[in-house]
Amino acid sequence: MDSQLHVYNSLSGKKEPFTPITPGYVGMYVCGPTVYSNVHLGNCRTFISFDIVYRYLRYLDYKVRYVRNITDAGHLENDEDVGEDRIAKKARLEKIEPMEVVQRYTVDFHNTLALLNNLPPSIEPTATGHIIEQIEIIKKILDAGFAYEVNGSVYFDVLRFNKDHQYGKLSGRNVEDLIHNTRSLEGQSDKKNPQDFALWKKAEPQHIMRWPAPWSDGFPGWHLECTAMSTKYLGEQFDIHGGGMDLKFPHHECEIAQAEATTKKSPVNYWIHANMLTLNGKKMAKSTGNNILPNEIFTGDNTLFSKSYAPSIVRFFILQAHYRSILDISEKALAASEKGYHRLMDAYQLLDRLPIGETGDFDQQQWLKLCHQAMNDDFNTPVLIAHLFDAAKYINSVKNGLQSMDAKQKKSLTKYLNAFLFDVLGLELPTQEKGSDGKLEQTIDLLLNLREEARLNKDFDLSDNIRDRLQDIGVQLKDTPEGTAYTIE
Ligand code: AMP
Ligand code: ZN
Repeated sequence: MDSQLHVYNSLSGKKEPFTPITPGYVGMYVCGPTVYSNVHLGNCRTFISFDIVYRYLRYLDYKVRYVRNITDAGHLENDEDVGEDRIAKKARLEKIEPMEVVQRYTVDFHNTLALLNNLPPSIEPTATGHIIEQIEIIKKILDAGFAYEVNGSVYFDVLRFNKDHQYGKLSGRNVEDLIHNTRSLEGQSDKKNPQDFALWKKAEPQHIMRWPAPWSDGFPGWHLECTAMSTKYLGEQFDIHGGGMDLKFPHHECEIAQAEATTKKSPVNYWIHANMLTLNGKKMAKSTGNNILPNEIFTGDNTLFSKSYAPSIVRFFILQAHYRSILDISEKALAASEKGYHRLMDAYQLLDRLPIGETGDFDQQQWLKLCHQAMNDDFNTPVLIAHLFDAAKYINSVKNGLQSMDAKQKKSLTKYLNAFLFDVLGLELPTQEKGSDGKLEQTIDLLLNLREEARLNKDFDLSDNIRDRLQDIGVQLKDTPEGTAYTIE
């Protein structure tokens, strides 16, 4: 490898060389979804961003333990610790069990991420499966004097913590500003100060998601689950913590405070935040309705776009922007990505069929170096893709007889295109698309080849029979000088 991986650390605001705590191993925690509705494409963008981090670390031969949780309790409707639990609310509205809500949207989350070809994490723990661990952390925070109990609820004392720690260091806020800017919750909350946050909430009588704890029958605060699960599976200090930009404050800030209050150590070496996907220039969000579901794009069943776009094209579109830039989705951008994706895949598929020449006219060493440099520069997928287009250009010029490719070059170009396109970027060939009908196209191609063979053998009965039977089931053939084209009705 010609250069070292550098990662932009939100904590320092700088790109830093990546050095894991244990050489050869990486611990990575990413905040997972709150499973109370279908994941929208904005959520998927964040998970794809971390799928790239995971894939590239594996490409670099790190052994990665990737933990991504499922939030199935404790996430209230707003950040001020008031309002209903999102899952309980959905259950109430739909008149079903909270765990039915959780099951339904966890399945949707898994299916959607699989369609987008995201690798599953190594461990996927749930908040409700870690209530005991969360209670233990609250006890420790209380013992250390950084929390207080009021009426069966426990709150983190931000001002007390800030006396000898720095609350706000990740999001660049200071406590004085927070005091001025935090909404007063007069009468709605037991908190001493509005900027304090809940570690444990006493459940109201009608609240169905409740667990026994020393302070009350209640439920944990949202921020606590990630501290409990990351510590349990990755230790008190680990390498990477990720999530969307909107989680920096208060969620991640609170995670740092909880961990430092109990261990006196900074929990995470590299904080990575993925930027937002926007629609019509505004953040895609579940709560505002400004969103589109991946499935609506894959099937074309939406009012925003004139046609459907396959999962690999959507993934490619997302990867054509750097994960730290805002990305706006539009028909024009998707259509451009579709073209680019096919240009790249066509070139890849052509490679195998190219004639072997005497010389290799492509500076592959330099090309490989540039590809690695791109990914080593904070996972810069758009720059990597630009280099992949250079390789595609070379392949096309060999096809057109303008340049030559020798056997050695063909072998190694195939190897590295495989690695970058499929292992690192996680793209799929058009015919491999899950959810698309790749198998149908392959079957029709097979029948067309058999028909061609029959024609060459002058077995016109058979060749006409194949054509007519295909026509009966709605596959129209059209013979052209370049070969047989077809349309499916
Ligand atoms: P949630 O289920 O709301 O907790 O969100 C799951 C993940 O999606 C979090 O990491 C969020 O930061 C992220 N996210 C939410 N909205 C967007 C968006 N519009 N673009 C990118 N990521 C998002
Ligand atoms: Zn989290």
